[in-house]
Amino acid sequence: MSTLPMVVPEPGLPGAVTIYEVGPRDGLQNEKEAVPTATKAAFVKRLIGAGLPVVEATSFVHPRWVPQLADAAELMGALTADLGESARNLPVLVPNERGLDRAVELGLRHVAVFASSTETFAQKNLNRSLDTQFEMFAPTITRALAEGMDVRGYLSMCFGDPWEGPVPVDQVVAAGTRLLDLGVGQLSLGDTIGVATAGHVRALVAGFVAAGVPVERLALHFHDTYGQALTNVHAGLQSGVTTYDASAGGLGGCPYAKSATGNLATEDLVWFLTGLGIEHGVDLASVVETSVWMAGELGRPSPSAVVRALGSAGS
Ligand code: MG
Repeated sequence: MSTLPMVVPEPGLPGAVTIYEVGPRDGLQNEKEAVPTATKAAFVKRLIGAGLPVVEATSFVHPRWVPQLADAAELMGALTADLGESARNLPVLVPNERGLDRAVELGLRHVAVFASSTETFAQKNLNRSLDTQFEMFAPTITRALAEGMDVRGYLSMCFGDPWEGPVPVDQVVAAGTRLLDLGVGQLSLGDTIGVATAGHVRALVAGFVAAGVPVERLALHFHDTYGQALTNVHAGLQSGVTTYDASAGGLGGCPYAKSATGNLATEDLVWFLTGLGIEHGVDLASVVETSVWMAGELGRPSPSAVVRALGSAGS
């Protein structure tokens, strides 16, 4: 049995893609059980070893909100001890200026902020209005840039919102361009509840392009809740987007809950891109091995179809 798909390129798609790995942050922040710091450090190192070019390591959010990542500083310390200077290139999420202070102290070079494209989620997640959340991000972004850091902006609920339903493209473009105008280098458009479909993806990317945003500054962050994540990646590729967020093993969200909102699995994305002959630089077998190991640590199987298909192939 083959452990890689046959390569049949499709004309008109980008030749190379950057996979932005979010498992250690977006994945583990949703785990019910606390994962030991040493396990997190090993996870990050294995993902780097598998060839993932960007691995978002953790979040400097207040432990009251995300106790799963309360060890962020300790984790970055462990990674710096192991990886040296290169650990400073691992991105971390900073929800506000206090989070940024911690990233500055550690000499980190890449941070990310997390915004909402809907009123309700801005209120529930950030305790701000859709409009005033930007007042909170402005000083964080300005200072990060002054420190010489790159800032990524996550925009959530870009396709649908559990309280408001479908989210108009114009509303998302307006929120996203505000983040970009504040100095965010890359904007990751998140399908937080997994309701996006292919035409909607093309319409949203076209909306940003029509607003004057270069497609190179966009990333797409899909969830596989309704099984649409790879179809949506395909739509993104057809629209010229070359950065995709993914989570090793599909970590993030409970795969057994009715409201499961699992991240697109890195392995599923790698299989798909490999089949299309699109360069990504990631060794599929190594990521699968890492996810099988992590599933053992977490005590439950990975929801990724590719991990299930290949997970025992080599053992
Ligand atoms: Mg996610």
